Amino acid sequence: MTVTGRLAPSPTGLLHVGNARSLLLAWLAARHVGGTIHLRIEDLLPDGDAHLPALLADLRWLGLDWDPWQGREFVRQSERAALYDALLAELLMRGDVYPCVCTRKDIDLAARAPHAEDKGAAYPGTCRGRFATDMAALAFERERARQENRPPLGVALRLRVPETPVAFADLLHGPQSVLLPADCGDIVVRRKDGGVAYMFAVVVDDWAMGVTQVVRGDDLLDVTAQQIAVYQALQRLDSQQLPAFPGLPQYAHVPLVLGDDGRRLAKRNQSLHIGQLRQQGVSAERLRAWLAVSIGLAPSAEMAALARDFDWQKLPREAVRFGARELGAL
Ligand code: GLU
Repeated sequence: MTVTGRLAPSPTGLLHVGNARSLLLAWLAARHVGGTIHLRIEDLLPDGDAHLPALLADLRWLGLDWDPWQGREFVRQSERAALYDALLAELLMRGDVYPCVCTRKDIDLAARAPHAEDKGAAYPGTCRGRFATDMAALAFERERARQENRPPLGVALRLRVPETPVAFADLLHGPQSVLLPADCGDIVVRRKDGGVAYMFAVVVDDWAMGVTQVVRGDDLLDVTAQQIAVYQALQRLDSQQLPAFPGLPQYAHVPLVLGDDGRRLAKRNQSLHIGQLRQQGVSAERLRAWLAVSIGLAPSAEMAALARDFDWQKLPREAVRFGARELGAL
């Protein structure tokens, strides 16, 4: 079977060494087997494309290339709202998705036991079966806002999650099984501001683009079961809006890059942004050689050689560090 992978960066921040390493791995995994790889810009949030030109420049500088999709050089999620909305409308009709007016506070109050500290409580299903239509939920919210003397919020849409565990096998992390009602509850697929949620768009697009392999940072391992629940709902929907089901992708969640503080690289690690390295005179060859070693390969700077030699077995399973020392050595 031919492999179709994807590079799916969010241009909300600049690309850092950690993003670059995950994207390189996605590229290598596809190219190693002669597969296709598409670029999808995940610019769903307002102002989501602030860094798009820099992002494209960084990807190219790094040596990545990608295959057009439907005659376009890359896909932008911000241009695909019509498809997401049409599918949400169908799911709403089918009852797999329902309007929700709960606030985070409502949810925390309704939950019996606090969940993992940083994650918040699982959604207890308060709005399941509560409103017949989106309009009814909106009318409720307007009335509540009037009583509370505040501007009304929008209405979210939530997907009913299965009662039974969602199981999948990750290439690096092995078999996984998540009981979604306990883990997170019904999933927000449309935000209150009317924008489609990442969790939904990512699956619609992976399906529409025929993606068979998802390689990304292991911070997304935890939400993969939610994405599979979206796949399952779309399968039940059997919509004309989507091509035939390409099957669930093979997931590989790769270890992240940590900074000197032991935390994963993020916006605060300004000095480790690709553009910044470039300005400091670091060459793409030197960075690729470091990346190559960090993924268990010989320090080659040649993309073709890296693609040839890439081997999942050689990839270290633990996070790697990239800080001042590594930067100085480049
Ligand atoms: N756009 C997401 C990010 O940059 C990645 C989404 C994905 O690979 O599924 O974190």
